[in-house]
Amino acid sequence: MYIPKAGALCPQCEKGRLGSFKKCLTFNYKGRVKQFNDEKVFKCDLCDYEGLTRDDNERVDRVLADFRRSVDSLFSCDELKSIRMELGLNKKEMAKVLSVNEKTIGRYENGKVTQSEHMDKLYRVLKDLPSAVEIIEPSITISSDKSHGSMMTVSESNYNPKLENVYHFSMADDYSFDSGVAVNASEC
Ligand SMILES: [Zn+2]
Repeated sequence: MYIPKAGALCPQCEKGRLGSFKKCLTFNYKGRVKQFNDEKVFKCDLCDYEGLTRDDNERVDRVLADFRRSVDSLFSCDELKSIRMELGLNKKEMAKVLSVNEKTIGRYENGKVTQSEHMDKLYRVLKDLPSAVEIIEPSITISSDKSHGSMMTVSESNYNPKLENVYHFSMADDYSFDSGVAVNASEC
């Protein structure tokens, strides 16, 4: 990943030089607004390139990921992680239960990838009905104190465990809100 520095050659036009500025970044998502005040932004003196340092970019990405999730009523990164921890599953086991790549679980939890609505619903089921883990993935046993504890019932009419109906987001590896967010930010 390119890391901008003051005085560096612009990665976009390869002619201009980057300078650093303080800027208020505003993001819109479905009519809701998230602002970051006083972000250090590197701008090209010739073209419209703008970038953040890697650390700032990751921090902004993560906050935005949770912002979009809250707008969409999806679990936050930390909630997804705590559901997995409550089930007592490592990322590899969770990946098996959800039929995704192990890396995808990590990306959900660090905000790099936003879970689909389908996936979020699955997390909701597992949160309230931990024993569903063993229905979905019989090779994984969860500790007995986790598997009882909920009065929720799952009937065929409201839950269809056929994998092909639930998991078409299993290739979600490539589905992420791109990290080039700063480029699209507008002035406050
Ligand atoms: Zn440039």
